[in-house]
Amino acid sequence: GAERTKNVLILMSDTGGGHRASAEAIRDAFRLEFGDEYQVFVKDVWKEYAGWPLNDMERSYKFMVKHVQLWKVAFHSTSPKWIHSCYLAAIAAFYAKSRLVLWSTSPTLSVSVHPLMQHIPLWVLKWQGLQQKVIFVSVITDLNTCHRTWFHPGVNRCYCPSEEVAKRALLDGLEESQTRVFGLPIRPSFCRAVLVKNLRWIANCLQVLLMGGGEGMGPVKKTAKALGEMLFDERLQKPIGQLIIICGRNKDLASTLESLEWKIPVKVKGFQTQMEKWMGACDCIITKAGPGTIAEALIRGLPIILNDYIPGQEKGNVPYVVDNGAGVFTRSPKETAKLVAEWFSTKTDELKRMSENALKLAQPNAVFDIVKDIHELACQRGPLANIPYVFTSSFSSLI
Ligand code: UDP
Repeated sequence: GAERTKNVLILMSDTGGGHRASAEAIRDAFRLEFGDEYQVFVKDVWKEYAGWPLNDMERSYKFMVKHVQLWKVAFHSTSPKWIHSCYLAAIAAFYAKSRLVLWSTSPTLSVSVHPLMQHIPLWVLKWQGLQQKVIFVSVITDLNTCHRTWFHPGVNRCYCPSEEVAKRALLDGLEESQTRVFGLPIRPSFCRAVLVKNLRWIANCLQVLLMGGGEGMGPVKKTAKALGEMLFDERLQKPIGQLIIICGRNKDLASTLESLEWKIPVKVKGFQTQMEKWMGACDCIITKAGPGTIAEALIRGLPIILNDYIPGQEKGNVPYVVDNGAGVFTRSPKETAKLVAEWFSTKTDELKRMSENALKLAQPNAVFDIVKDIHELACQRGPLANIPYVFTSSFSSLI
């Protein structure tokens, strides 16, 4: 009955597209596995409840990752524990000691899917004496070289997507009993989707997907142009491949690409809500090294050409893909286009082998393993009440 429903609060932030995708994956898996037993709320906490600099994170992040050197400095200089702990403690003190408001969701369970959402929420819980009452887990959404703010010894569980990340967690003081390795949580629609092959203009022509994360980043335009040339067979005067470009929220990119003339069949799309369909309709993918996109492509068995990465958290995703034989890394649009042209003509065996390796690496059930484990944690705690979880009000109401 409704009185037994437990509230789950997922803490995320729209920096990039990956954290929201993971949050939605966990929410959907809870619904599929447990129905009404859990009610899941996904909250962009900083945007809704905090003030500057936290509520501006989406914009600052976008700015910084565009100016990669700046991001590199920010990522590495905040790596030492004393630096990020002091910084986050100051912010937490500033907010939590001020006016308090009731968080309407009253969760029994909090799930963080963001590197900056361990320290502050855990401090707030501690100050309110709720540490023993609310279960707090972290679900890490970077495959390898993640930031150290992900690791907080005060969590009930830390879900790591790979053994590499689990090793980092242990080095940072977490107990082995706190960590679990299931894989990156991917929206269940990916794992259970029926393959859609009819999203091809020309039925028997191989198709490549080009994208750059939720924000359409990386050398998308140059790569598209190079593919437009290279996938046209001058001798036979016909295309050897067709191209789908998903620009995400990058509207300028979409309109620029739409205005170009192409020798091969090309579809240009803005932000898509059913990525599993597009991936299911393609034979390989070109993308920056976003963990979400990589894990999704692996599930769909798509060989991956990585053409860019965000310094810091995405760097380790490159060897994760390349060393496991599921793809290659090149920053050169020409080389990328040449590779796809070869895969689609003379080297189809290589394409097939990489596709098999991708499927071997895929972890489609990770999200279900994670929610089942969280459920077990909740059961071990015995009957849990939905506790009013007090959080801070916005900065604007302070001044
Ligand atoms: N995505 C989407 N629609 C789009 C473009 C991207 O749903 O039009 C999703 C994509 O499927 C993936 C996420 O956004 O789940 C991107 O996450 P990733 O970790 O690859 O990169 P980020 O955008 O976080 O840097």
